Amino acid sequence: MAVDTVTMDQIVSLSRRRGFVFPSSEIYGGMGSTYDYGHYGVLLKNNIRQRWFEAMVLERDDIVALDSAVILHPRVWEASGHVEGFTDPLVDCRTCKLRFRADKLEDSQCGRKPSKHPGEFSECDLTEPRQFNLMFQTTVGPVEDSGSRAFLRPETAQGIFINFKNVLQLARRRPPFGIAQIGRSFRNEITPGNFLFRVREFEQMEMEFFVPPADSEGWYHYWIDERLGWYLRYGLRRSRLRVREHGPEERSHYSQGTSDIEYEYPIGWSELEGVANRGDFDLMRHTEFSTTKLEYVGPDGDRYVPHVIEPAVSLERIIVAMLVDAYDEEVVGERERTVLRLHPEIAPVTAAILPLIAKGEGMVAKARTLYEELRKRHSVEYDDNGAIGRRYRRQDEIGTPWAFTIDDQTLSDDTVTVRDRDSLAQERLPIGGVRAWLDDALERDWQTPKGA
Ligand code: ATP
Repeated sequence: MAVDTVTMDQIVSLSRRRGFVFPSSEIYGGMGSTYDYGHYGVLLKNNIRQRWFEAMVLERDDIVALDSAVILHPRVWEASGHVEGFTDPLVDCRTCKLRFRADKLEDSQCGRKPSKHPGEFSECDLTEPRQFNLMFQTTVGPVEDSGSRAFLRPETAQGIFINFKNVLQLARRRPPFGIAQIGRSFRNEITPGNFLFRVREFEQMEMEFFVPPADSEGWYHYWIDERLGWYLRYGLRRSRLRVREHGPEERSHYSQGTSDIEYEYPIGWSELEGVANRGDFDLMRHTEFSTTKLEYVGPDGDRYVPHVIEPAVSLERIIVAMLVDAYDEEVVGERERTVLRLHPEIAPVTAAILPLIAKGEGMVAKARTLYEELRKRHSVEYDDNGAIGRRYRRQDEIGTPWAFTIDDQTLSDDTVTVRDRDSLAQERLPIGGVRAWLDDALERDWQTPKGA
């Protein structure tokens, strides 16, 4: 039986146990809601990042890449509206001394035990909400004065807008065209939590797609479909994904229309990715504040300010969704196994190479040769440590889709077995054909055995 409901604790515990993600600064008592990525976490992140970059940039002719700075001119954040309006409502509890987001009280835990929601105990004494700006401040240069105040970016999008002119001219593009960027963003969240779902430092993947104003509605829907398709392509279950359109009162200051692609996390349906129609807000504001005209001028002198469609997501929210969707436990031959049924192009390790007997000289030599060949092109792992069953289970737990085992028979006929993580089926194939077999296997469509 596969598990249908997965708890955040199961994901946190597997992530820690197998070195995907560690709580940060643990030897100093921890920072709370800050995490460091270990080896498999880094490999997983690299894969997700790369799949996004392929779909958004490499497989298209109308989007180019950018990598802008974290600390931008402070005026950027005045123009963007963040200095004034990038705030969440904050309330304090005078009794338990904790702070909460006034618009998320139902998701927060009161500091009193047994824990309930803030405001539900008669002893709770909440202050009136006040607006708290989520931008981290820092100072630039050796002298701390008001002129040296700067911010760590809370989104990567503004780095794209301020480079609009550079990119447009260099790339000789006309709308529709987009600029994509992956990079760290920082938000001083009032109530971070739920593992990586809400953290103060995260890696955003954003793309600003500039279009003729009359076409913006069509492109907005196009990008919602495109992004939803990407999640399905990489194996998330359709039943755990939905699109929710914001009502007018919920939209950000810049938005003419926003839809969240939501995933059914263990905490309930929550925003995985946002797709927003930002209109001409950003280019107009930066034109006003910088006095540099940000517009498209066509070959015949026609000019206009493009409208912008933005899909924006963090790697962290994708990681949590993918781990939750992939996590499974089952009993095989009276033994329990935990398995991550990750898409093969997302899994941190693509294949494991396992000599059946660690000290079998012939086996080791053949296994090492195969490993050296495969590692040139793929993320593969060589493991000769312990009983074969335990090695399989270690690979299952980190989501390795295939394991190639070198055994006695390999020595006589140069064949190996390949074991499939999901079906547990084993077949034999010539050792010389493994590389081509793996390339083919990675090209095949993959669907999770956990169902739709
Ligand atoms: P929320 O309503 O959950 O605070 P948001 O609407 O403020 O999110 P956006 O400003 O639209 O989020 O940011 C775009 C994307 O960046 C989100 O869809 C999410 O994937 C990611 N993101 C935003 N804040 C965080 C965070 N604190 N931790 C991890 N990812 C985040």
